[in-house]
Amino acid sequence: MIVPTERVTRNGCGSWRRLGRGASGGGRQGLPLKPDHGGCAGCVRPVALATLHCRELATIHYLGALHRTHKQVRMLIAGNWKMNTDVAAATALAQKVCASMGDTGNVHVAVCPPFVNLAAVGQVIRDTPVRLGAQNMHTADSGAYTGEVSASMLVSAGCHYVILGHSERRQHFGEADALVNVKVLQALSHGLAPIICVGEVLDERKAGRAYEVVEAQVTGALHGVEDTAPLVIAYEPVWAIGTGETATPAQAQSMHAYIRALLTAQFGKVAAAGIEILYGGSMKPANAADLVSQADVDGGLIGGASLEAASFAAIVEAAREKT
Ligand code: PEP
Repeated sequence: MIVPTERVTRNGCGSWRRLGRGASGGGRQGLPLKPDHGGCAGCVRPVALATLHCRELATIHYLGALHRTHKQVRMLIAGNWKMNTDVAAATALAQKVCASMGDTGNVHVAVCPPFVNLAAVGQVIRDTPVRLGAQNMHTADSGAYTGEVSASMLVSAGCHYVILGHSERRQHFGEADALVNVKVLQALSHGLAPIICVGEVLDERKAGRAYEVVEAQVTGALHGVEDTAPLVIAYEPVWAIGTGETATPAQAQSMHAYIRALLTAQFGKVAAAGIEILYGGSMKPANAADLVSQADVDGGLIGGASLEAASFAAIVEAAREKT
């Protein structure tokens, strides 16, 4: 158990070490506290940073710098079409997206239409750099789950990604971290890359609980995950989704660095540096460049602006310029 009075201090080697109760115990939710690096046997990563005093949260920027000295050269811009478009509209939008896409460079681009439009959109984007993603899936392979769609079905439909734990799934369908975790494991076992959405609501941010909430969501979703290869995290502050409000670049970077620290605690520095952490929440052409310039922002999950091909393409271009 990590307590609020716990302190984090730097070791002589420049890494961080926890002091106080919990400093030598196991991580929360079964996550082991891994040795920080090979050079100093006494080092452990501070897993429960969210429980620290506010002044200590300033260290998060330093931790981000520790984990990520270079901006990732690869980014991902994914469009979440939500429950919009019928087959004809989805086909037309996919055609426009492909037509407006220039050289995407080191930016991976994905569109995530509703289930019923996956086949049609898949046809349009075939042989283009645009990849296909779904917006949700069930935990089981197959069976008596009327109305549900499985990971293997998504793979057979040509999906590369699946969005999991979106705040709208959490809010309207009661999806909690434990369910998201099972879905993440299921997606990975089928070779689908989960885009795991995390983010605090406004009241939680106002109460100073944003880091604590996001930490619980990240560690909860990743419980038992060992292979990081196709993993994507999307930090989506709920107060910024579909509202026109956007996190400032500094707010986004601070949380992304914090998530990177959590990933480092679980997977190690090298693997964590390679995991794409997207920002989502009213990202649009006007603010995309500032957001993707941040050291730990590796692209975006785009809702509203992804329904307009020119806007989506402009966001892709903003990301390409930063890679
Ligand atoms: C989303 O729903 O994932 C999202 C980021 O929406 P918007 O861009 O519209 O805020």
